Amino acid sequence: MRIGYGWDSHEFKAGIPLKIGGVDIEYPKGLGGHSDGDVLLHAITDALLGAVAAPDIGTLFSPSDSQWKGADSAVFLEEALRRMKAAGYEISNIDSTLILAQPKIGPHASRIRENLSELLGIGPEQIGIKAKTPEGMGTDNAAIAHAAVLLQRSNSSRRSGVPKKKTR
Ligand SMILES: [Zn+2]
Repeated sequence: MRIGYGWDSHEFKAGIPLKIGGVDIEYPKGLGGHSDGDVLLHAITDALLGAVAAPDIGTLFSPSDSQWKGADSAVFLEEALRRMKAAGYEISNIDSTLILAQPKIGPHASRIRENLSELLGIGPEQIGIKAKTPEGMGTDNAAIAHAAVLLQRSNSSRRSGVPKKKTR
């Protein structure tokens, strides 16, 4: 098994669309910065990359590279999944926490979970999404996401006999 952890934050900016977990959320502000600013997809992408000791999202998709400006973050997630599969792993489960003052995530949580389930190719029961407000942190104009993933050897890699490290 492998464990991975990812963290990300983006600042709210007026007049741009808000996307969290690949889902469009109606709100007067969106998240600026790298690509479409999808803080949750970025944290999950980094967690998957970290779990297989791949380079991080900023190294693979440099924020200073104009081709990623406004890009759909699902592209980054797909690359992380490709690297995970190439390494012979599949997702056991993912847990995540969003920290933001506004908007409330509760009403969107099931849509986000369904979309993540589709993007990641795993069941919704393998995806934890928690949302908290940033009490006393002074980050009311930002969205923060933490994600942890657990990977296990994939069935296909066990069948195809991808070399496995000896346990002793
Ligand atoms: Zn990001």
